[in-house]
Amino acid sequence: MNQAALILIKPDGLKKSLTGNILTRLSETKLEIVAAKMVRVSKALAEDHYQHLKDKPFFGDIIKYLQGDLHDRKKVMALVYWGEGAISKCRQLAGATNPEEADPTSIRGSYGRITTSGVYENVIHVSSNESDAEREIKLWFNPDEIIVKLYPIKAIEEEKVKKNTWA
Ligand code: UDP
Ligand code: MG
Repeated sequence: MNQAALILIKPDGLKKSLTGNILTRLSETKLEIVAAKMVRVSKALAEDHYQHLKDKPFFGDIIKYLQGDLHDRKKVMALVYWGEGAISKCRQLAGATNPEEADPTSIRGSYGRITTSGVYENVIHVSSNESDAEREIKLWFNPDEIIVKLYPIKAIEEEKVKKNTWA
């Protein structure tokens, strides 16, 4: 069954110049990339993204981590992978959450680390299941930024919306 998965290359992945390696590893899945962009992550977006972990003691640290405060890289790369079994294929390649427990040949096993303060710097995010994927993709992307129709959309008319265009 075709599925969509949100992938984030986290700030440590960008700082370590791993973008190419990670995309090459993910291309083993033969999935299609249907959306991609660089994002400067606001506190609100990071908190929404990790809302299921808000009661954990490490919540504050992972919000800082996703915002790039720990790496002086205030951006992440967000992508949507699409195709047969996308979530399990991408999670398999990503490896376990804890990089020390991850298969050493997986992306997290190869490139992740645990900081002295205990944060799992594990290089990428991959959606855990279909409902998380839908919630996350809707959080990170507008419908027009995705080149296939993943979820129902509606047209709205906005009056006097101020936006930037090329000068
Ligand atoms: N995390 C952590 N310590 C933990 C659990 C999670 O630092 O004990 C971080 C880690 O960066 C992880 C993120 O919080 O990727 C989100 O946790 P989740 O349980 O959703 O793991 P994932 O789905 O990313 O494998
Ligand atoms: Mg998760």
